[in-house]
Amino acid sequence: MALIVQKYGGTSVANVERIKVVAERVKQTIEDGNQVVVVVSARSGITNQLIERAKALNPHPDDREMDVLLSVGEQETIALTTMALHAIGVAAVSRTGAQAGITTSLAHTRARILDISGGDIKAQLNQGKAVIVAGFQGSADGHITTLGRGGSDLSAIAIAGAIQADICQIYTDVDGVYTTDPRVVKNAKKIKEISYEEMLELASSGTKVMQSRAVEFASKFNIPFEVRSSFNNNPGTIVKQEVASMEGVLVSGLAVDKNQCKIVVSDIPDKPGTAAAVFKSLAEIEVVVDMIIQNIGRKGLANLTFTVPADDAHRAEQKVNEILSENGGGNVSVLDKIAKISIVGIGMKSHSGVAATCFDALAAEEINIQMISTSEIKITVAIKPEQANKATQILHDVFNLEK
Ligand code: ASP
Ligand code: MG
Repeated sequence: MALIVQKYGGTSVANVERIKVVAERVKQTIEDGNQVVVVVSARSGITNQLIERAKALNPHPDDREMDVLLSVGEQETIALTTMALHAIGVAAVSRTGAQAGITTSLAHTRARILDISGGDIKAQLNQGKAVIVAGFQGSADGHITTLGRGGSDLSAIAIAGAIQADICQIYTDVDGVYTTDPRVVKNAKKIKEISYEEMLELASSGTKVMQSRAVEFASKFNIPFEVRSSFNNNPGTIVKQEVASMEGVLVSGLAVDKNQCKIVVSDIPDKPGTAAAVFKSLAEIEVVVDMIIQNIGRKGLANLTFTVPADDAHRAEQKVNEILSENGGGNVSVLDKIAKISIVGIGMKSHSGVAATCFDALAAEEINIQMISTSEIKITVAIKPEQANKATQILHDVFNLEK
């Protein structure tokens, strides 16, 4: 007998039909001899609808009231899922985040989990019931809190850790984690096993299957999980700590982000503190910066080039402009859109040559690299967006990812 946490995302519980399918899967899992805790999201679109309604009444809704509102989405799903289970003869009971003992900080709309007691989850399981828990929500001093968008993933992973589940299954609308976007590369392959680190790099580089915070949490507390589809019975992708069998693999996947902009800050004073001032100002407005390059210009002046999500480029430009005038001058301009392609693989830690192979393959097809950045397990190149699909296919081929 295994203790299994199953998390169902918004599309998996989108409507009455989908909830019935979830209930059948839970029933089958129990009949196979397992204990099951189910964590659910709000039905797809519901959280966005609630936000829209709030903003229609007040452009700056209070964060505490926002949490009272947004937690409603998941509460609807736990009740409906539990009722669906009852209808097919499965003993089950619902629990809100608070009832499951999920204690968070009092930072409304972006609370952090401080502790999970599990409430009476174990006791209910031992009475033969499935326990259906609301994702995304917790409580702080009796106040309802939420964990940030996509937070149900984090709820599921954290509960799996707290009750020491044997496995946490994240059910979604894709079959697992692929070597790259199958819409771009026809022969992209589902990855069987991947490390937390690689999963995080793929997520931060644009392959968004799961909330990054949830993966970080799983990595920190070593909670293995599986990403799989609720629309079929195919095995998914197992995400866990690095294992020996992964060592032969140099590159695990490619992530593509076509929606980035290059920003150039030129003629800034070449002295300590200038870069800090620029990037601190961007952090203040929560713009995520990547691929930073600095070069020395003339006469004690320097240039900084970096990438930001295209949607943030205008805000970033304005903010940097303000900061430059207070810090000895300089110019800022937003250049063209670029695409970032990241090659990710834990095998790179101990092998050289991946970068050379990548640059060679792109050069052979006349694809010009504008910027490069690397980490221990990732190489990212910035190229023209029009060339992104072709470049992805070339790299997928050269690193034999289809095999
Ligand atoms: N319902 C929340 C959201 O849409 C949490 C989740 O789905 O994970 O962000
Ligand atoms: Mg989600």
